[in-house]
Amino acid sequence: MKTRGSLIVLSGFAGVGKGTVLKALFETHEGYAYSVSATTRSPRPGEVDGVHYFFISKERFEEMIEQDELLEHASYVGNYYGTPKAYVEEKLEQGFDVILEIEVQGALHVKEKEPDAILIYMLPPGADTLYQRLSGRGTETEEVIRKRMLRASEEAEYLVNYDYIIVNYDIDDCAANLHTLIRAQRQRVKSNSAFIRKLQKELVDFAKKEC
Ligand code: 5GP
Repeated sequence: MKTRGSLIVLSGFAGVGKGTVLKALFETHEGYAYSVSATTRSPRPGEVDGVHYFFISKERFEEMIEQDELLEHASYVGNYYGTPKAYVEEKLEQGFDVILEIEVQGALHVKEKEPDAILIYMLPPGADTLYQRLSGRGTETEEVIRKRMLRASEEAEYLVNYDYIIVNYDIDDCAANLHTLIRAQRQRVKSNSAFIRKLQKELVDFAKKEC
């Protein structure tokens, strides 16, 4: 009996290392499906359509909303971002643990629609580490970095709505912890109701059998 996969939402401040940790997770473990989001923002250098995002027009995005093709969507820094529903449903049904790497508004929408979704927030060990990671990219001015840090402090207000936090001290350790956390969800009683019912029936049938 194939168990339906878990729907996992991963959020975290810009610069915390979500992408790097997920890369390490997918390289070391099977059974995961990464949901590629649709967005109206332009690709950054090196980003590939269909791999990092589906880069689409505002008109197409609004059509997707209208036709109920998105599990959730949100507006972030002037652009739309959303999760195409069909892929997520197909992979969950096939037993994959599906990961949505999305921001807080979207995460809360997912939780409303899919109460069994697991919301995980990745945090840096401290503010200084986040500052070093953001400035280490060498792509942003000091002012932008400070704005991002302030935004991080605002986002932290939403943490109460999440189920778990995971602290990124080290990429490989963090990926291993994430894997343990996600796999543990498979042992939840409510994730195994069909198996439990089957076993109960077998026990009853067995007890009724003549010796
Ligand atoms: P970026 O433009 O830096 O790739 O992403 C900006 C923010 O949008 C990040 O916090 C990212 O996690 C979030 N994001 C990416 N895809 C989605 C999505 O499908 N839905 C929502 N709600 N947020 C998304």
